[in-house]
Amino acid sequence: MSTGDIARRSPLAVTGGRNPSGSDAPPLADAKSAELYERALGLLPGGVNSPVRAMRSIGRDPLFVARGEGCELVDVDGNRYLDYVCSWGPLIHGHAHPEVVRAVQDAAALGTSFGAPTPGEVELAAEIVARVPSVEMVRMTSSGTEASMSALRLARAATGREQILKFAGAYHGHVDGLLADAGSGLATQGIPASPGVPEAAARQTIVVPWNDEQALVTATGAHELAAIVAEPYPANMGLVPPRPGFLELLRERADATGALLVFDEVISGFRVAPGGAQERSEVIPDLTIMGKVIGGGLPAAAYGGRRELMERIAPAGDVYQAGTLSGNPLAVAAGLATLRLLDATAYATLARTTELLADGLRDAIRAGGWFGRAHVVSVPGLLTVFFRRDRVKDYAGAADCDRDAYGAWCRELLARGVYPPASQFEAWFPSLAHDEAAVERTVEAATAAFAAIQDRA
Ligand SMILES: *Cc1c(COP(=O)(O)O)cnc(C)c1O
Repeated sequence: MSTGDIARRSPLAVTGGRNPSGSDAPPLADAKSAELYERALGLLPGGVNSPVRAMRSIGRDPLFVARGEGCELVDVDGNRYLDYVCSWGPLIHGHAHPEVVRAVQDAAALGTSFGAPTPGEVELAAEIVARVPSVEMVRMTSSGTEASMSALRLARAATGREQILKFAGAYHGHVDGLLADAGSGLATQGIPASPGVPEAAARQTIVVPWNDEQALVTATGAHELAAIVAEPYPANMGLVPPRPGFLELLRERADATGALLVFDEVISGFRVAPGGAQERSEVIPDLTIMGKVIGGGLPAAAYGGRRELMERIAPAGDVYQAGTLSGNPLAVAAGLATLRLLDATAYATLARTTELLADGLRDAIRAGGWFGRAHVVSVPGLLTVFFRRDRVKDYAGAADCDRDAYGAWCRELLARGVYPPASQFEAWFPSLAHDEAAVERTVEAATAAFAAIQDRA
């Protein structure tokens, strides 16, 4: 399929467009999406099954997806988009990769779930252990949330301590205690970030600003921590890489204080390098949380670490954790097919594509008249366009971005056939299905989108 056709096919005719005022983009044809959304609003809270999908933070209604092909999404009204969400990370090979689809079909034909061990999960465990430096044993779950909840239970059991240190703006799934996010400032005692989170759960969480060495040293000195939990390449406040030495300091402080170091590599794992951020940085955590890419677009996640730690998990040990669909044969088949396609060439290609896209978006910022008001941050396989002059180093910086401008830019991108993450706090996920033509087309659309929102400055 030629991505060059997208310019001609999208946006479609102007009927039933619902772009909010303030945007001068040609409205998308979205009558079918609008109809589905109306119906969904009566049946699903907010019309969706996960909040960001509602597109509220970019000021428009959601687009309902009919199908995906490679790097493209097709919505129910027939609009085509270059997809930079890619299911928020799992689809490193793009949509409906033939080998992944065939693996799932073959597995489904043999039965979808048994509640008993299958050969595939041993294979997938071996693939994970071979790639991730810190992982000698692994336990599979169905979601990243479950994996982080379980990894923390294990860290608490192993240390006999309760408090957890996390970083402001880091996301580890919707685990009660980890929703705590006290924002900027020095280390703060967690306060619940959502109604329904018990204060007692939030109180076990110490929140520290990312990249703040002094706050980290202070907090790790002041609390008896079971674990320091970090996304080594945080990508849930936009992409905010660690400063040089910061991951090393995490390791050092964990060792000095008897806490376990837990890396949440649900996004960075199998993406920024075969062995994730720990391979790139050579900082080796005690436990690793994995997800997204290892399920290849089906529900699968995992946590793993050193043998003696992991053997605390039942039935080898006394720490209980279970799951009806854990290691599900379809998810395992998709994950195996996905990982086996990820050879050295694939990582080199993804790194090159990301670099091309990041450089192209920097050009678009200049050509579109936004130099000095937006900047691009990237690592292989991930990038963010921050609407801010100064570099973002933590959550406070990310929150200081011009989110209205980001939203307006995203609406303009959608109208030009590019589907960006609908939040300043989410990363872009280029995939191996995005070729140079796709990147070129993206940069053209981005330039036009920047130019279209000039008057917002
Ligand atoms: C997506 C994500 C999770 C949660 O995974 P789910 O499968 O959505 O529960 C946890 N940690 C990070 C870093 C994530 O990006």
